[in-house]
Amino acid sequence: MLQIKSISKQYKTGDFVQKALDDVSLNLRDSEFVAILGPSGSGKTTLLNIIGGLDRYDSGDLIINGVSTKRYKDRDWDSYRNHTIGFVFQSYNLIPHQTILSNVELALTISGVSRTERRERARKALEQVGLGDHINKKPNQLSGGQMQRVAIARALVNDPDIVLADEPTGALDSDTSVQIMNLLKEVAKDRLVVMVTHNPELAEQYATRTVRLRDGVIRSDSDPYEVEEGASEAPVHKRLGKASMSLATSIALSFNNLRTKKGRTLLTSFAGSIGIIGIALILSVSTGVNAYIDSIQRDTMTAYPITIDSQTFDMTSIMGAQAGGKETGGKSAKNDGIYPDDRSIKQTSSLTSSITKNNLADFKKYLDDPNSEVRQYVGETGIQYTYDVKFSVFSHDPDGTLVTANGVTIGAKSDSTSNAARMSSMGQSSSMSDMTSMQMTVLTGKTDTSASPNSFHEIMPGAKDDQLISKVITDNYRVVKGAWPTGKDQVVLVLDDDNKVPLTT
Ligand code: ADP
Ligand code: MG
Repeated sequence: MLQIKSISKQYKTGDFVQKALDDVSLNLRDSEFVAILGPSGSGKTTLLNIIGGLDRYDSGDLIINGVSTKRYKDRDWDSYRNHTIGFVFQSYNLIPHQTILSNVELALTISGVSRTERRERARKALEQVGLGDHINKKPNQLSGGQMQRVAIARALVNDPDIVLADEPTGALDSDTSVQIMNLLKEVAKDRLVVMVTHNPELAEQYATRTVRLRDGVIRSDSDPYEVEEGASEAPVHKRLGKASMSLATSIALSFNNLRTKKGRTLLTSFAGSIGIIGIALILSVSTGVNAYIDSIQRDTMTAYPITIDSQTFDMTSIMGAQAGGKETGGKSAKNDGIYPDDRSIKQTSSLTSSITKNNLADFKKYLDDPNSEVRQYVGETGIQYTYDVKFSVFSHDPDGTLVTANGVTIGAKSDSTSNAARMSSMGQSSSMSDMTSMQMTVLTGKTDTSASPNSFHEIMPGAKDDQLISKVITDNYRVVKGAWPTGKDQVVLVLDDDNKVPLTT
């Protein structure tokens, strides 16, 4: 038994309030065929939707089998819709790409019934509505009347207590309408059927009870059902059962959906993959560019290492002093007096004033500290120390005089060389801007700024004890002849890019 008690429902659209149902009360028997009649907009669909749990009421109460639905939770409504109610719509609402058997089966899928039983029950329901021969057809291969019968089969397959039909014959011709009405009359023998219709003749002829509605109010009822309060049995809140499908079922349904819409699936995945490929492309390009920048940085660092000497001077300030000297020389060309030439003094003073001393003891302490921030940038092989160690290799010249291997006779002390000589030697080394000078620098890790050229340098050792030569060296030089040294007493001759050796060497 279904009781509708003083139910009201309003629709608000903007400022406009539409009263769809106004204090409607109606009791429905467990088994009868109720036709709801009324002009368009009188609230028939709204009433049906509220009975079916598709819409909520604003006030009043809907009592199902003696239980108020006021305290229904969402899953109670789900369960109620799924197990107690069967819907038939004017526009059939069938899934176009599935066979009518699948369409009917789908109503059972949500109830958690096994696959074989689903199939069997769907087939029976279709036979019941006279479509046993058409089960493998798609909806668009059927007539309107046949489609509506599929919709009725779908409503019946769950064996619901209540069947709700909203203008089921609205889109059908009169002959077909009669067939559908006969079918619904048959269905109504052992359950409650509530049907909304425009057609008073059909209602009169087939329904067992006619309710007329206008402006959201019941105007007449051909067979009212009065319920004595308290006479009804104690309400039972029975468990209505499961109303959700298993994970496997929903996955299977999704794949079926994809399979039947091949074109759309293909297009969607194509468009999706363009996006994914685009992102992957941008990521790979940016990773590649980063790797390239890293390698450029590494190569630049090996070619132009940062060298910090205990004592150094600013080369550019000397060059500035030289340029300034020339300017004064231009002015003095007036031939009207005697002018001083301060170039040499400027050069010397700029040299002496630009000489700076570094506090290397403290700086080394900073570098050696494992917590210092420079560590994370240079790594353990990044810092290389050279001390003022000269490899003096001695030999005898043809006269039998003892000389160093650079050809300097022992005794000619480099300390006594004048400032000017120092400078010219420095100018020479700075003009050697080709790769030879740079590669020598890489090998030694220190530019020799003293006057006498020293041909022998220590090769940068590896970070670990078992590495004789640093990876920085082996990565950046190619062995032309021979092999990398395997002992501390072996020498390497360093060539430039054109396989040349400086004559001084
Ligand atoms: P019927 O089915 O009898 O033609 P309905 O129950 O569909 O009438 O509608 C009743 C009234 O409520 C109508 O005036 C309609 O415009 C209004 N109405 C129905 N549904 C909505 C909605 N979702 N939003 C706003 N107004 C609605
Ligand atoms: Mg309607």
